[in-house]
Formats: sequence, structure tokens, C-alpha cells
Amino acid sequence: MRRNLLIFGPPGAGKGTQAPRLAAELGVPHVATGDMLRANLRDGTPLGSKAKAFMAAGELVPDGLVIEMLLDRIARPDAVGGFLLDGFPRNVAQAEALDAALAASGSRIDGLLVLEVSEDELVSRISGRLTCPEGHPWHATANPPAVDGVCDVCGGVLSRRADDEADVVRNRYRNVYLAQTEPVRGHYHAIGTREVAVAGTGSTDDVYGRLRAAIDTL
Ligand code: AMP
Repeated sequence: MRRNLLIFGPPGAGKGTQAPRLAAELGVPHVATGDMLRANLRDGTPLGSKAKAFMAAGELVPDGLVIEMLLDRIARPDAVGGFLLDGFPRNVAQAEALDAALAASGSRIDGLLVLEVSEDELVSRISGRLTCPEGHPWHATANPPAVDGVCDVCGGVLSRRADDEADVVRNRYRNVYLAQTEPVRGHYHAIGTREVAVAGTGSTDDVYGRLRAAIDTL
């Protein structure tokens, strides 16, 4: 069975923590546009240099750059049985481009998994967020690595993301997430796509358990 799922929620809701585990269990690739863009930044590609200023300000990278990158990724053979998208679509235009590309191959988005977290909780979480150069997610208090400042998985040095500073976080939440990304839920609701929302609070395992159970109801 083909399973094209979106994991949806504001920055700091826990998508990057939950999605890799969920995708591994479902046997589909975890496709995170933020991770792909950061890899382009690191590698100094033309796409990375075009995206850099938008990312640093917490703005959306222009649709023309992101949509092409995403459609190329989900056309790869490992996504033939489905995928778990994380961080895409970020606005209705991206959703429409995705839907059109899927429809051309007789497919569609099968469901949305929404992680719900309050704004206050998001700000406190993001302020402790740490990541290694490979993008493995850690948190200073909620999910600390065994050795301070070092990734348990790859041994890389942990740092804070430049776009996790407080004013950038507020911009990402209010002017980007609420204004542009939240309407993507309405778009999928209007075309009859199933959605399940779960509370993104509690331990990583609690949230995972809720998501895992929710998928079976989609
Ligand atoms: P994320 O890791 O998903 O929080 O993404 C980090 C940053 O990458 C965002 O704040 C945007 O600047 C950019 N980005 C990621 N995904 C998209 C997207 N689908 N559309 C536009 N910009 C994106």
C-alpha cells in the first residue's frame, strides 16, 4: 500500500524528532525540506546560496526553489512506496504543486499528522534546541546527549541553529506558520484528505505512541 503522509505543526513541535522514527517504522523515507536546504547551505551549492538569507531570517525560501527540490526528491526510487514529508508544504501554493505532481502519477496525499503545541511551549523548547552537522536533533533539557555538546549518533559537535534565536522564532511562528502554513490544513480538509491531530506535549515516547496509534485511524 502506498502511503504519502505529511507531518505538520509549528517550528519546535517535534516534527524533526518524531518523523525519522515514524518513517523508519513505516518503511518510507523521511523527506525534510529544512534538512535538504541546510545540506545545500553546508555544501555551498547554488541553491544553498540562494536560500541562505531567507533561512537566516526565518522566511520561506521562494516556492520555485523548494518545490523543484522536493519533487525531484520524491521522484527517487526509495519513495515509490510512499514518504513522510516534514516541513513541506509550507503554504497553499506548495500544496497545490505537490498535489498536481502526485495526481499526474495517479496518486495523492493520503493523510496529515498534526502535532499540536502551544506558542509558549514552542518558545521554551526552541531555546534549548541543539543539532549536529548531520541534523540529529537534541535538546539541552528535554533530550540531552550523553556527553555535553556532542552528538550521540555521529559524534559531531552540537550547536544552535541560527534561525532559533527568539526574534526569528517569533517571526517563524506568527508571520510564517500562522499566516502561511496553517492554511495548508484547510486546503487538505477542503479536498477531503484525512487528518489526525495529537498533542505534542510529554515525553518523546509519549508523543511517538500517540502518532503511531493515530496513523492507524487515518
Ligand atoms: P525547518 O528545518 O523545516 O524548520 O526549515 C528551516 C528553514 O528552511 C525554514 O525556516 C525556511 O527558511 C526553509 N524551508 C524549509 N522548508 C521550506 C519550504 N517547504 N518552503 C520554504 N522554505 C522552507
